[in-house]
Amino acid sequence: MARAAVPRRLGTRLRWQVATLVERRAENEGASTLVLDVPDWPGHLAGQHVDVRLTAEDGYSAQRSYSLASAPDARHVEITVQRVGDGEVSAYLVDGLAVGDPMELRGPVGGWFVWSAGQADRVLLLGGGSGVVPLMAMIRARRAAADPTPFRLLHSVRSPADRYYLPELRRGDPGLTTEFLYTRTSPDGRSRPPGRIRQEDITGFAWPPETSPMCYVCGPTGFVETAADLLTGLGHDPDHIRTERFGPSGG
Ligand SMILES: Cc1cc2nc3c(=O)[nH]c(=O)nc-3n(C[C@H](O)[C@H](O)[C@H](O)COP(=O)(O)OP(=O)(O)OC[C@H]3O[C@@H](n4cnc5c(N)ncnc54)[C@H](O)[C@@H]3O)c2cc1C
Repeated sequence: MARAAVPRRLGTRLRWQVATLVERRAENEGASTLVLDVPDWPGHLAGQHVDVRLTAEDGYSAQRSYSLASAPDARHVEITVQRVGDGEVSAYLVDGLAVGDPMELRGPVGGWFVWSAGQADRVLLLGGGSGVVPLMAMIRARRAAADPTPFRLLHSVRSPADRYYLPELRRGDPGLTTEFLYTRTSPDGRSRPPGRIRQEDITGFAWPPETSPMCYVCGPTGFVETAADLLTGLGHDPDHIRTERFGPSGG
């Protein structure tokens, strides 16, 4: 019985499925959360992603990956997409797809960049731009499981208007600390000049390496490489640093 169940679950994960957009939520001017109804969703872990495929009437199709934003036990599957300038797929998902429209997705995908309740004593989350999406899934999974593991989220964005999930992060969770870094425009009264992530941003916020926090780093390639280098330079164990690169570097 159990042996038969495994291929069935794998089959759902690897097969393209039709999802329907049931709701769209603007997170900021350039990013929207898409709430999807996926009838045969096999469940997922916080940190995993899906492949999305769009096909035009003439048969041309394009495929991209998007992290799951929703907690594993959520009723619907959610992804949050940031519109990338001349981006083929992101612009359509943010601006073109309407409630009731179908799209194809496949997944969940990935088994390394994941967090489950009880997996670590403390968790440091470093996100650049839309790299906060899988980190938010981890925060939501922690809340859903009432897991007491201390979490710290450091999110680097261009300006205050580019923050994601603000009402939810402002409500907060016991044991979760959230801090923002601004690369271009800081809110009034911030002493830190705008700029990309630096060593002192991490030392001022993270636990010391001796306490072995599990570190998850996600975002544009440049952000991930810089942040991971800073962590190892500070003495964090590379085995405790998990990274996910979303693509070209961004500011
Ligand atoms: C595992 C994984 C998970 C991802 N999760 C998310 C997510 O949760 N939310 C999200 O918004 N994106 C996510 N991405 C990025 C996403 O897959 C696409 O790369 C992105 O949406 C751009 O696709 P596009 O078709 O709009 O742009 P394209 O048409 O592919 O590219 C247009 C231009 O934008 C540049 N570009 C491409 N990707 C990026 C990028 N990520 N950042 C900056 N510039 C880029 C290209 O070099 C090109 O100049 C993820 C990527 C990976 C690999």
